[in-house]
Amino acid sequence: MKSEQIKDIEKDFTIMIIGGGLSGISTFLHLHKYSPELASKCVLIEKEKYPREKLCGGAVGGWSENILKDLEIKLNISSIMINTVECCFGDEKYSLIEENYFRMVHRKEFDYFLAKEAQKRGLIIRQEEKFLDFERKNSDLIVKTNKDTYKVKVLIGADGSLSKVRNKINKNVGNIAPTIEIFSQVNPNFDTELKEKKVVLDFTPIKEGLQGYIWHFPCIKNTKTSMNHGIVNFRIHNNISSKRHMKTIFIDELEKRNINYETVRFLGHPIRCFSKNDKISQSNVILTGDAAGIEPATGGGIHLAFSYGELAANNIIRSFKSGDYSFDNYRNDFNKSLTGRYIDKLSYLAADVYSQKINPLRGMEKIFIKSR
Ligand SMILES: Cc1cc2nc3c(=O)[nH]c(=O)nc-3n(C[C@H](O)[C@H](O)[C@H](O)COP(=O)(O)OP(=O)(O)OC[C@H]3O[C@@H](n4cnc5c(N)ncnc54)[C@H](O)[C@@H]3O)c2cc1C
Repeated sequence: MKSEQIKDIEKDFTIMIIGGGLSGISTFLHLHKYSPELASKCVLIEKEKYPREKLCGGAVGGWSENILKDLEIKLNISSIMINTVECCFGDEKYSLIEENYFRMVHRKEFDYFLAKEAQKRGLIIRQEEKFLDFERKNSDLIVKTNKDTYKVKVLIGADGSLSKVRNKINKNVGNIAPTIEIFSQVNPNFDTELKEKKVVLDFTPIKEGLQGYIWHFPCIKNTKTSMNHGIVNFRIHNNISSKRHMKTIFIDELEKRNINYETVRFLGHPIRCFSKNDKISQSNVILTGDAAGIEPATGGGIHLAFSYGELAANNIIRSFKSGDYSFDNYRNDFNKSLTGRYIDKLSYLAADVYSQKINPLRGMEKIFIKSR
């Protein structure tokens, strides 16, 4: 950013959150819970206009529900309750059956609901405004968006897996896992998941070198039930490559479900996996949620986004109390936190699962039983 662009610093918001997804909103809600005064100095910049789409399976489990309860948020949106998680590996199957194990939500509706809750608690949200860049000026940051220039004390990068804030503090690209997904009408002859209140995770493609799985989720899209089919490749091991392209594997799977791939719209949004080589903070800046990275075993990040938000809020409060905005301890706190330990454990597990060192069903058993 060229300094001559900064003509006038109009707003002094002190704390700026970039991204109005779950980790950004959670950061504010936790700030509001623990320090309403600091929360009142917060502004959130969101490049889209709510309600905005977010590619995601939308599986929300007990971990997230507990955090929402702690935040005194009562979800009032449509959802599908799930009782069975079925994992497949060739002919082998493992099913975890538990009533209301998690719910499927439409992220567009979910995120909008939470953003409105945050607004009710005083969050100023600037929609359709895009973060562009920041530079340091003395002990503050000068933040440039496509609409304004701000002076802030703390900048929170909650801008998702392709985070621009992350890229400002990291030179490397990091671990990015591609996904492909489609939405289709429920065909009761093939998609029994909706009726059975079940999600399917199929790890069979590991046998041909894919470091990921195919999923079949019943979902809600614009208040109607639908199916979400997808595939992810975590690409953990450089020395293992898939014998077939993930799209070819996916198309074969869709054909098995009588879905004509020529008539569907393929969508994709990457998952950022946490890497120990990445910086998740520097002076005056911290990353949360996908911008910091999630686990590479299932790619589930909704609960992690909520937890990251709490971690970020606590660090921000501490920095204002001490006057030390270096965020030197953020990484340490992360490592010690449930979020950090969970991501670490699942990273090791993923390395074993996707190198075929262990049976993926045994791996998933550990994850799903433990998460309970
Ligand atoms: C295909 C797919 C399926 C998934 N399914 C599941 C699932 O079923 N269950 C689960 O737990 N997790 C799932 N995840 C992971 C989950 O979606 C993420 O972990 C979670 O959304 C992270 O939340 P976040 O707030 O960190 O980022 P996001 O939800 O990505 O939010 C980032 C926000 O920042 C905004 N933004 C980006 N750039 C800028 C900018 N320059 N200026 C201003 N605003 C900006 C974006 O518009 C967005 O609103 C899935 C992910 C993918 C890709």
